[in-house]
Amino acid sequence: MVHETYRKLLEVMAEVVDLNRAAAVLHWDRLTYMPAAGAMARGEQTATLARIAHLRSTSPEVGAWLEALRPYEESLGADSDEASMIRVAHRLYEKATRIPTELIVEQALVAAAAHEAWLKAREENRFEVFRPALEQVVDVSGRVASALGYVNSPMDAFIDVAEPGITAAFCEGLFAELRAELVPLARAIAESGRQLPDSVLRNHFPAEQQLACGTAAVRAIGFDLDGRGRVDTTVHPFAIGCSLDDVRITTRIRPDDFGNCFFSLLHEAGHGMYEQGLPRRLDRTVLGEGASGGLHESQSRLWENLVGRSQEFWQYFLPRAREFFPQQFAGATPDAVYRAVNRVTPSLIRTEADEVTYNLHVMFRFELEKAVLEGRLAVADLRDAWQDKLRQYLGLTAPDDLRGVLQDIHWSGHFGGAFQSYTLGNVIAGQLYAAALADHPEIPEDIARGQFGKLFDWMRTRIHECGAKFAPGEMVQRATGKPLQARPYLDYLGRKFRSLYGLS
Ligand code: ZN
Repeated sequence: MVHETYRKLLEVMAEVVDLNRAAAVLHWDRLTYMPAAGAMARGEQTATLARIAHLRSTSPEVGAWLEALRPYEESLGADSDEASMIRVAHRLYEKATRIPTELIVEQALVAAAAHEAWLKAREENRFEVFRPALEQVVDVSGRVASALGYVNSPMDAFIDVAEPGITAAFCEGLFAELRAELVPLARAIAESGRQLPDSVLRNHFPAEQQLACGTAAVRAIGFDLDGRGRVDTTVHPFAIGCSLDDVRITTRIRPDDFGNCFFSLLHEAGHGMYEQGLPRRLDRTVLGEGASGGLHESQSRLWENLVGRSQEFWQYFLPRAREFFPQQFAGATPDAVYRAVNRVTPSLIRTEADEVTYNLHVMFRFELEKAVLEGRLAVADLRDAWQDKLRQYLGLTAPDDLRGVLQDIHWSGHFGGAFQSYTLGNVIAGQLYAAALADHPEIPEDIARGQFGKLFDWMRTRIHECGAKFAPGEMVQRATGKPLQARPYLDYLGRKFRSLYGLS
């Protein structure tokens, strides 16, 4: 018999999830079709929903139920849905009750205004236009970190929300391990004197066909577009789950560049497939979502890079891409496209970075966030600090703010703990893919034939269907039998790029 108090807890969870999903639809609309003048009212609507959701989920009644459910939780197996539900709800309740509702509302309003300021600053290509709003974002974020509490760094407060159980120190250790191999690899590639030609991707690719071609690809890998998903265009690509059966992805299109739209779509479809694969029995509960930002990113990076930038994928997909672009791809070979989409070159934009240099972008953003939150760097100096780090890590200088400090949307809503999940995602993707290959060595041959089912099912069973029952470290341990580690990912990168660039 279902515990009466447990049933009441589930009812409140369902309401809170509904409120959050309503906010998600408003968010999607704001970033796609909303007229610009709607921004302030939309900010108020979002803040109202956030306030009601926060009040509901932090009511003393919920706290009392969670206390009363302790014996019930202890009587169940720790892996059971019910025990996991109570455990995770308790954790979220404790975190949420530390933040006053007024601060949640203030954060939502500041974020709405900052997003508009960020858009305006991008239009004018001037960081100064964004700076005052960003100072407010940093101020509110700092107060949220204090409210959440931390021992070593404000970053820990946010990382523990995004990646339960993971600390800034753990991330720094991981970054050091990656840096030790990726910096020499990038240098060896630069010094090899070889470069992979990518002219096959630099042609005129009309926007409409790009969208159709990318949509065909995401459908092929398994994103369900038959009444359960949609694809739109926006400034900054994203994926959002408005419900289990309403998952939306977006992309941006550059008519002179095939890769931008195509790989954004594979990436967001990876997120979307995770959202569509969450367990129905856990829907409208705290467990009915992705396990963490890093786990989510592992799914997007898997399909974007380990699959989408593989030799086998282009053996399959080039003939299909040619249906949309008969002239542009007329003389192309799968191998030529494979090489073109894996060209390594230090670049200014994180989302367009190759696999070898991508994590360097993440590392320096992480360092900047940490320095600002710890009061070692002023927002007014962020632009110059960005240039210093860019030089230090990638040997580049941003010619303007648009291609520098204004490029990411993240700081227009919240400051701190947003970027480490990208690198965790890359690392986890490498580890999951290696484990899936050990179980099914024929996966690459399948991909060459356009069959993605085995890999998809492996992810669905081991990752998607667990929802948020376990913390990311435990998810990886359960899925692969090993603790979260960088080795498989580094081996994958080393093997692939040493071969592509003819390095020993
Ligand atoms: Zn992503």
